[in-house]
Amino acid sequence: MVEVNDTLSGPVLIIGAGVAGMTAAIELADSDIKTILVEKKQTIGGNALELYKAFPTDDCFYCFEGSRFRPGIRKCFYRSAMLDNPNIDLRTNTRVDEITGNPGNFKVKLTTGPMYVDPKRCIMCGLCLKRSGAFSLISPQCQPQAVFYDPSLAEESVKEIEKECPTKAINLNAQSTEEQVEVSDIILATGYTEMRPVNMDEYGYGKYPNVITQLELARMLDPNGESAGALIRPSDGAPVKRVMMVQCVGSRDENYNLYCSKICCVFALKHANIIVNERNGIKTTVVYMDIRTYDRHERYYREARESGVRFVRGRVHLVRPNPDGSLDIIVYDSLLDRYLSYNIDLFVLSTALEPSEEDETLQRTLGLNTSSGFVAPLDLANDSVVAGDHVYVCGAAMGPAEVPESVTQARAVVSKILQGRQ
Ligand SMILES: Cc1cc2nc3c(=O)[nH]c(=O)nc-3n(C[C@H](O)[C@H](O)[C@H](O)COP(=O)(O)OP(=O)(O)OC[C@H]3O[C@@H](n4cnc5c(N)ncnc54)[C@H](O)[C@@H]3O)c2cc1C
Ligand code: SF4
Ligand code: SF4
Repeated sequence: MVEVNDTLSGPVLIIGAGVAGMTAAIELADSDIKTILVEKKQTIGGNALELYKAFPTDDCFYCFEGSRFRPGIRKCFYRSAMLDNPNIDLRTNTRVDEITGNPGNFKVKLTTGPMYVDPKRCIMCGLCLKRSGAFSLISPQCQPQAVFYDPSLAEESVKEIEKECPTKAINLNAQSTEEQVEVSDIILATGYTEMRPVNMDEYGYGKYPNVITQLELARMLDPNGESAGALIRPSDGAPVKRVMMVQCVGSRDENYNLYCSKICCVFALKHANIIVNERNGIKTTVVYMDIRTYDRHERYYREARESGVRFVRGRVHLVRPNPDGSLDIIVYDSLLDRYLSYNIDLFVLSTALEPSEEDETLQRTLGLNTSSGFVAPLDLANDSVVAGDHVYVCGAAMGPAEVPESVTQARAVVSKILQGRQ
């Protein structure tokens, strides 16, 4: 438990334990500053935990270099020393309910959801996972490493499992707890959510199982994912032979988001390259308005063209399911000014990256400026990570951002806080 020393040098509250929030926590801890790191999910890592290989280095995301190289633990971010660091008070399954007080001395009410499985006791024996679908493992690499229990999936047998757990890690009667903490600074590292385009009828997402998003594709490509890295049709498990991706779904669109989501061209090309180079013989077509691969990422575009990925400039006009599970897709080719017809197995949507709805409440409570729903810095030109008095922002909470950018911004926040304490 972190104690408050005095106001302006009290602990720092970090909201969100993705790459940005974790970097800020580790770097502040290295400077002997205590932090309370609040994560609403059961595990840390944020969206990066779902991504498999990472541009720009094509490293596996599980071992992505985060804050710094730490000898003895490879360069692994998720198994870093964060969990045992005395300067980091990590609260998973926790939400910020209320923020009162003044800048430099905020009073924050936190609610932690029921901890049905105690991660400190669970030894990952696998007994509960084998016996009931109510217990699951979020990811083999997740931290804290423990299973997750979903009461809505519970059957009668869970009571037996609770008794049989060898370390008594399960408590089915666990309750939520509330606590008020006092902090001097707040860092918003709440990241993004990938848009699920259930309202965009033209793409058939949520209606046809073989229409998925890029994050869902990343899970499928991951050897630790449900399909063990095999590209299969969700409808019937048949091997995928033809993939089509479509760009700018819900971005650059006046009916949804006007902004460009910035990184979706690069991650679509990353996925297209993995498919054509590592999954033998699968044909891949990308339908685009513009390909926007900024600075060093242009190599992904060049590589995709050289590897035989096909590109069509235009828009998807129609998606029609066939009885054999495949999809017919009609694309308007704006360069040739004609309609083209494709028969494919998997249709992947590069959807917009958006702020999450609940972040709006946080932004309102703290009186922050926003831009397209993301947190806007007070002075973009000079202090791009300062969002208010003793309030900072980093990573995709400011808008779509790649990991290296998120890490750099987190470090900039740390340096601002250190300057303020000198
Ligand atoms: C398909 C896809 C592929 C990608 N591939 C790459 C790649 O190859 N290379 C690369 O550099 N980048 C890639 N990215 C981008 C990468 O995901 C982001 O750069 C990175 O996740 C940003 O980290 P973050 O910590 O800012 O946000 P996030 O990863 O979104 O983490 C935010 C965390 O905050 C938590 N949170 C949110 N709100 C609250 C709240 N109110 N209270 C408590 N917790 C909260 C969330 O649960 C989450 O854990 C990809 C993105 C997508 C969609
Ligand atoms: S039975 Fe207990 S120790 Fe084994 S995986 Fe489940 S919670 Fe962990
Ligand atoms: S990065 Fe590419 S796919 Fe994403 S919105 Fe911008 S142009 Fe469209």
